[in-house]
Amino acid sequence: LSNGTAITFYGGVNEIGGNKILLEDKGTRILLDFGKSFKVRSRYYDWNETLRVANGVGDFIAMGLLPNLNGIYREDLLALAGRPKKEDLLVNALFLSHGHADHADYISFLRDDIDIYMGETTKTIVESLEDERGRSTLEFEITGFKRRPIERGSERIPRKIVTFTTESTRNKRIQVDSIEVEPIHVDHSIPGCYGFVIRTSSKTVVYSGDLRMHGSNPSLTRDFIERASAERPDVMICEGTRINETTMTREKDVYDVCKYFVDRVKSHLVYADYSYKDIDRFTTFYNVAKNSGRKLLVHNRVVRYVRHLSTQGNPLKLPQLEDENLAIYKPREKSGTYVDDDYSPEDRDLFGSQNALTAVDIKNDPSKYIIALGSYKIDELVDIGPKEGLYIHSASEPFNEEGSITEEKMSNWLNQFGLEKIHAHCSGHASGRDLNDIMEAVNPTVLIPVHTENSGLFRLFQGSKVMVPETGMKLEF
Ligand SMILES: [Zn+2]
Repeated sequence: LSNGTAITFYGGVNEIGGNKILLEDKGTRILLDFGKSFKVRSRYYDWNETLRVANGVGDFIAMGLLPNLNGIYREDLLALAGRPKKEDLLVNALFLSHGHADHADYISFLRDDIDIYMGETTKTIVESLEDERGRSTLEFEITGFKRRPIERGSERIPRKIVTFTTESTRNKRIQVDSIEVEPIHVDHSIPGCYGFVIRTSSKTVVYSGDLRMHGSNPSLTRDFIERASAERPDVMICEGTRINETTMTREKDVYDVCKYFVDRVKSHLVYADYSYKDIDRFTTFYNVAKNSGRKLLVHNRVVRYVRHLSTQGNPLKLPQLEDENLAIYKPREKSGTYVDDDYSPEDRDLFGSQNALTAVDIKNDPSKYIIALGSYKIDELVDIGPKEGLYIHSASEPFNEEGSITEEKMSNWLNQFGLEKIHAHCSGHASGRDLNDIMEAVNPTVLIPVHTENSGLFRLFQGSKVMVPETGMKLEF
């Protein structure tokens, strides 16, 4: 046990995502994010393959997906793994930067007596995604879980989730024993993202989360940089996804590219593929549709997601289902004949909207729509039956969590239906140029790269203040 401040990385080292950072001060310990490592997972498993539940945390620890730590995992999952259940609680709290899987999903394995702090919007997003996935999967039980093995009629155990907002923490920092945490909003490719300024009894540590300067709301990131630099931090943990890149396509560029091509294809079908959690991109496609005289056609998950984010006065000013430039796609289910009985009561309600359209409606006049069903519902092309058209690929993040099929299969689908592909995307991550500016503005004594495969470039650009972590090695300050 060290007397000062110590930081140990259990994920996010030499990889994009999987952030799991333990910060200690005297006897107090907090975790910063506890994400899923796509890099390690994809070494052994296909993206849609589920790991054995019968061995609890056992397979996850054996394969390097979870750190081998005592005192943080759920008792039911320890028991299944044949590990002793009664362990002293190792960490007091977890702070989640945002709702992306590579930061959030492995909270699923943590004990329910750990306080989980997250932004209010992140909680909304996580709950919305949990609703959509319905059947619970061991790797996505963030807000609560049922003890494994699940018995008939067993109770769901809620986690102790504590939410914050920029307003709620303005003059009131979050205190966890000797550690004080100040969340500060940043801009990224999902709403509700935060970086943290953390004060231990002797040091100030800044954690960037994921951020960018070229998105729709750069002022959020600017606020973070300003607060972080004012604290003259001893340590900065900074993401470096795109430290090796200088391209800075902005959200507005995505709009311009899409608008241009949609106008060029005139009466043909346009199919858009983007991550539906990226609400800036949803807004971009909505605006392209609106200004091209088309409707943006989305699936039921998107409508529910937008509804969730629009509660409490619709702060993001999102268009709702009643909007004349938005439509919801009603797919064939069960009987294949669109009868009410085929749908859940919730879907029946949505599909009762006058903006609900079937493949038949679209087939009659494809030029009226931008079909944003993504790769998730690409098989609907069979019903829509285009002979030619435009496919806009609008994602480039290394991993797509929404059931992406491989690029090769996707291009076979496009060939089968005569769709020509273009690419238009704005990254969720700051470019190397912006990252260097951010790190220089914050000006920490020690700089630790995370969420990057290019730590060497940090050294090259930022010099001897850079400390490259190793997984599981405790860094003391
Ligand atoms: Zn992210």
